[in-house]
Amino acid sequence: MTSIESRWHQLTSALPSGVNLLAVSKGHPADAIRDLVACGQLDFGESRVQEALPKQNALADLPQIRWHFIGRLQANKVRAVVKAFRWIHSIDSLALAERTSRIALEEQQQPTALLQVKLRDDPAKGGWEIDALKDAWPELQALQGLQISGLMTMAPLGVGAEDRSALFRECRHLADALGLEHCSMGMSGDWREAAAAGATWVRLGSVLFGPRQLPT
Ligand SMILES: *Cc1c(COP(=O)(O)O)cnc(C)c1O
Repeated sequence: MTSIESRWHQLTSALPSGVNLLAVSKGHPADAIRDLVACGQLDFGESRVQEALPKQNALADLPQIRWHFIGRLQANKVRAVVKAFRWIHSIDSLALAERTSRIALEEQQQPTALLQVKLRDDPAKGGWEIDALKDAWPELQALQGLQISGLMTMAPLGVGAEDRSALFRECRHLADALGLEHCSMGMSGDWREAAAAGATWVRLGSVLFGPRQLPT
């Protein structure tokens, strides 16, 4: 077993039931993904289209892989993302949701969409403020091209464990209030708190694959 495979076995056995592992493969080559597919991992996250497409081509013999887009989504990349990814975790505005829905209908796709929320001030990150999300909610629900299934959030850098737990619980409460199943929250440094707070997806990169090797 490679070290990645043994870390995968340790992490998946440590996750509470109901918490899915999204293997964040950005910065790692297609071969590392292939090794994890052999273990049974099928969900992989990438944050840049340019990096993901060559890997998807190299892994075209593994159609069982489910690709998740987790990066900031630029308007001019929406079509490429809709064609290549089944899940999009980073819908952060009504304009982007509308555009993605329209293009998904044109491409006869129906991606599962998560709305990225910002529960603390953080100039480094995008995301909906809670009030803006509640205001836009009726319009979001009416979009035919997206299956809006949950929320995604990230804790700002430098926030302590207790406040991270509080933030993740707030995300879970908001998802429950909106009737949404999924919360995509928790990364290598904070997945335990996120899992305890009700995450359905933890997005793990370096704790699984080791330090990133390719520029991302
Ligand atoms: C890179 C990335 C991750 C994984 O980060 P690690 O700290 O390496 O686990 C998770 N979510 C998003 C949105 C990312 O961009």
